[in-house]
Amino acid sequence: MPDDVVQDHRRGVQNALRVGWEVLASGGSALKAVEEAVAVMEDDDTFDAALGSFLTADGKVQMDALIMDGATMRAGGVGCVERIRNPIRAARLILSESPHVYFVGEGAEQFAAGLGIELIDNRELVIDRERKRLAEAKAKAAAGERDLTFAGHDTVGAVALDRNAHLAAATSTGGTVNKTPGRVGDSSLIGCGCYADDQSGAVSCTGWGEPIMKLVLGKWATDRIANGSTPDLAAREAIGYLNSRLDGHGGMILLDARGRYGIAHNTPRMAWAVRTKSGEQSGIQIP
Ligand code: ASP
Repeated sequence: MPDDVVQDHRRGVQNALRVGWEVLASGGSALKAVEEAVAVMEDDDTFDAALGSFLTADGKVQMDALIMDGATMRAGGVGCVERIRNPIRAARLILSESPHVYFVGEGAEQFAAGLGIELIDNRELVIDRERKRLAEAKAKAAAGERDLTFAGHDTVGAVALDRNAHLAAATSTGGTVNKTPGRVGDSSLIGCGCYADDQSGAVSCTGWGEPIMKLVLGKWATDRIANGSTPDLAAREAIGYLNSRLDGHGGMILLDARGRYGIAHNTPRMAWAVRTKSGEQSGIQIP
């Protein structure tokens, strides 16, 4: 996260927090809160989710998203969708309207369209900043630089606990820069970039997806809570494990049903914002 975009990231997560908190404050569910918070960040072109996402090698936005309800353990996920403005809303419809959990590509788009989601032209999600980023990534790749996986991670995510002590988590991403079309990362895979279970915790991850997937990192962290760890410790240990086991990098937000939370990352920066009964905090790194 270069210096010139720090403010945009911080403002972006604060906006999402406000919208999510309003849902909770008015008695809404954790599930609704994470959906709304993530939709705000999808609409904000600062982040790598929906509008303004990183581009595939063939210059398209291709998105993955997952939402999970800790109370029922119902989940809805989409992979490789190109024509949906808010993938998290399609994921939410899958969760509530389908016996299935995960839809990809055209099938996901048709399912969403059948439930009233407008299908848009992919070019509506592509912005100039990302065309430029893709051109730079291709130039580096052509020059043989192994820089791509460190090109930055801007996936968005939210976790929430509501007044009925239910947890939920949501994650949405455009994936990694210059990815091969059809590639799916950790973000939308259950237990990898997103997971929620009232009996353990709710988690959302960002970072280089392949190592996160191999370690099933979200579930790894929530299992530690179930085994007595605090979210703070579990998040730090998860990122340590990602680093030591596979030389991976990324970040995690983690919350339990008692309202205890953890935030950790091994990237130089990660925008975060949190609100509890005692107030609001945000930042761009955790010491
Ligand atoms: N985790 C995402 C992926 O690998 C990328 C990111 O966090 O920026 O698709």
